[in-house]
Amino acid sequence: MKASENQQAELLGLANLDLEISRTRTYLTNLTSGNAFSDLRSAQRDCAAQLIESRNALDQVELDLARAEADLKLVEQRIEKDAAALNATSSSKDAQGIQSELETLKKRKSELEDLELAILERKDEVEATYKTVLTDKQAIDEELAAKESANEAEIMKLRSGLDLSTAQRSQQASRIDAELIALYEKKSSRGLAVGRLLGRECGACRMTIGATALAEINAMPRDEIATCPDCQAILIR
Ligand SMILES: [Zn+2]
Repeated sequence: MKASENQQAELLGLANLDLEISRTRTYLTNLTSGNAFSDLRSAQRDCAAQLIESRNALDQVELDLARAEADLKLVEQRIEKDAAALNATSSSKDAQGIQSELETLKKRKSELEDLELAILERKDEVEATYKTVLTDKQAIDEELAAKESANEAEIMKLRSGLDLSTAQRSQQASRIDAELIALYEKKSSRGLAVGRLLGRECGACRMTIGATALAEINAMPRDEIATCPDCQAILIR
């Protein structure tokens, strides 16, 4: 097939543009696949589950503390009441009974105070864990939001670039003979359709062309389409 050197150069430009468009499409597919940041998303889910767990633990310890404080208050009120009754009674038998109850109550009070202290210590630990998980979760949320927004911006940029390239492509293709385009499309479906001849190397398959084949290619008129003996790509000389 014949094609002017100008037409051949246009075809090489079109092939390069098609390569760029195809690379951009692949990149865009990766960015929009939803697989991006899957590690970070999974870390976010884990962290959210941990946050619920530690919030529940904190709620429980606060409940335990309130219960222990209420129990302690009841015992203290009882002690106060018994002490007043002890002061008021004149019966030694009653006084003995009250005193024995007071001893039991004081023992119970001491136990409840120990319990309250233990709960307070546990509350400190649970609270510290909750705060750590909360901070971690916020950091992951922020990182993910920043990355997603950067990703979104990149996608927008690529899409508008792709629109431009596609418009440029159809303009460029309109300048090339239909027959040459048809040959190009046919070869494109099998791989790289056009390559520049770089010394003895085919720019499409990167194979070195044998001396005999190269001599034949070089002997061809400039407006004759040469093809690579290895990959059948159109060779632009
Ligand atoms: Zn080749």
